[in-house]
Amino acid sequence: MSKKSYKFEKLKDSETLSTTTYPHKHCPVCNRMVDPAEEYCSEECQDLVKKKDKKGKLRMWIMIGVAVIAMAVVLVLSLVL
Ligand SMILES: [Zn+2]
Repeated sequence: MSKKSYKFEKLKDSETLSTTTYPHKHCPVCNRMVDPAEEYCSEECQDLVKKKDKKGKLRMWIMIGVAVIAMAVVLVLSLVL
């Protein structure tokens, strides 16, 4: 029994050692392990992030546009009424 637990502990040790000492990053898209020099695991993931960024920016501009229009409406209404 003591032998078994020792084996288990050794396995656990090597596991933590491999994850802590091996330099690596995780792909922010699919969470796969990537080289620390690389940002994403593949061009596909990079493209996905780029597309998301574009969509996020577009949404931000739409929000700003809506806010400006709302403010203009309020301003006009306060001037008219
Ligand atoms: Zn990925």
